[in-house]
Order: sequence, then structure tokens, then C-alpha cells
Amino acid sequence: MKILGIEVAVVPDARIAPERGNFGEWRPGRSQIAIDPALVGDQQAETLLHEVVEAVVSGLGMELEHMKLQALARGVYAVLRDNPAEAQAIIRGKRVVTRVGA
Ligand SMILES: [Zn+2]
Repeated sequence: MKILGIEVAVVPDARIAPERGNFGEWRPGRSQIAIDPALVGDQQAETLLHEVVEAVVSGLGMELEHMKLQALARGVYAVLRDNPAEAQAIIRGKRVVTRVGA
């Protein structure tokens, strides 16, 4: 996938959970996001978004307390999941409203 113009590989890694207690990892040195392949349901998607937010925050040179980053990523994920039509519009750059009475 592409994050801020950089190609990032999303790869499975079954060791991150047992070895480091994480579901995913952003690996800036390798331009790689690792995801635990054992995650079920929407956990992989939510973890991917979390790691993407990690990559964006670091790519922008920002520092954000991890708890705040986690809350932000969770909140954005919940909104996207609860609003598939608007999420598609955002992804595809489509209009989300039209002029009333025009
Ligand atoms: Zn994190």
C-alpha cells in the first residue's frame, strides 16, 4: 500500500504477538507493516488502520502519545465501519453532498 507517497508492504508475522504482545507493527526502517495473521473478524482491519496511523504520524514528524494515537485510530475506524457509504465516498473522492435547491 502507499502511505504518504511511500510504498509500504503489509506482511503477516505470527511472532509479534507471542514475542512482543502486539497485534501489529509499523516498521519504518523496512517500510513495512506486520499484522498477526491469527487475528479474526475485523481485528486485522482495525490493526492495519492503527499501524497506518502510526506510519502517518511518524511520516509527518509528529509525536503523539501512544494512548492518544490508539484512541484516535479506534475512533476513526469505528466511524468508517459504521458509515460504509461515506467511507467509500472518502476513499473514492466522491461528492458527499449536493447543493439544495440548485
Ligand atoms: Zn501502536
